[in-house]
Amino acid sequence: MEALRISNIQTIEVEGHGYSTYVRIYTDRGKIGTGECIHGGAGVTDIIRDMSSQLIGESPYNIDMLFEKLRRSHLFNGGQSGNVITAITGIEIALWDLVGKAFSLPVYQLLGGKFRDKIRLYADCGDRDLEKCISNCRDAIALGFNALKIDVDDNRNIHKLDKWNWSLSPNEYNAMVDFVSAVRDAVGKQVDLAVDMHARYDASAARKIAVALEPFQLMWLEEPVPPENIDVMREVKRSTHTPICAGENLYLRHGFRRLIEEQAVDIIMPDIPKCCGLSEGRKIANMADIYQIAFAPHNVCGPLGTMASCHVCAGIPNFLVLEWHWLKRPHWHDLVHTDKPVIENGYIALTDKPGIGLELNAEAVKKHLKPGTDYFDE
Ligand code: MG
Repeated sequence: MEALRISNIQTIEVEGHGYSTYVRIYTDRGKIGTGECIHGGAGVTDIIRDMSSQLIGESPYNIDMLFEKLRRSHLFNGGQSGNVITAITGIEIALWDLVGKAFSLPVYQLLGGKFRDKIRLYADCGDRDLEKCISNCRDAIALGFNALKIDVDDNRNIHKLDKWNWSLSPNEYNAMVDFVSAVRDAVGKQVDLAVDMHARYDASAARKIAVALEPFQLMWLEEPVPPENIDVMREVKRSTHTPICAGENLYLRHGFRRLIEEQAVDIIMPDIPKCCGLSEGRKIANMADIYQIAFAPHNVCGPLGTMASCHVCAGIPNFLVLEWHWLKRPHWHDLVHTDKPVIENGYIALTDKPGIGLELNAEAVKKHLKPGTDYFDE
């Protein structure tokens, strides 16, 4: 094992679903690793800069220890959730890329090997306009996707009687059911279809909609109520045969513990490059597996963060499907160097390339940097 010490850490911000933060970790022997985390914004860049003094001089091989060292040093300012965890997640993914390259092994191999050779994706096709939504779904199916997600909540819905309360007016209810019915008719019965409610409804509204959507055989109904009250989520789940999914804004094992132990959902959806990183993501998946809860990560990353999530999805038994949120953002495919498309027929194949297995295309990434910011020092 080659002795390595962390010598520098840099970040860049790249346009995508908002801005992703890419983290690059340099070592004294010239080996580097790159990770991606998202939804922390500029705050994450500052946090990572502050954390760099805790990492420089450390061995990059002790990934879990470094994760916990950074987390515990922030217990009084965010070491449980939010931007601090997202920042540590970006560092953790870069460390896995670096260590994989140091051992010339793909990350999934270091995590315990794989259950499957390729990772099924679902395409986010959400648009509040029905025709545009159906058009998105047809585009995704034409690309080979066999799983889709649409949105039915709409705060601007003309049928909504009060934009602040969480209840559902009769016409809003009818509009939602008609919307899902029209999409199901358009895509057919063979395609997996998930429906997102973005945690915007109360318990009775959620129960009504979940039962009304049962004939459409959804893959899941996502966050019909806010996930903060797990007791309410559990009651919604118990009221319907429609599978319930939640967790895109929860962090770490602690954030998922009661959701899993109370069996308040059928499916969990941690956002691995936001809420936990690869090692913790695997632990969350394993916790869910002992309750026969499926694992379907939320994901809005570019190719690097998406592929990082794939390494976790490959190595757990209860993986269902991974999100892909860039149907209408073609520059996703340009951000990395590849000899063939990363996504083929709605799947991402794992390769035997070391680390995460993808390298940034610097020229393409530079075109999408946050205005006024610079690329990594090469
Ligand atoms: Mg969602």
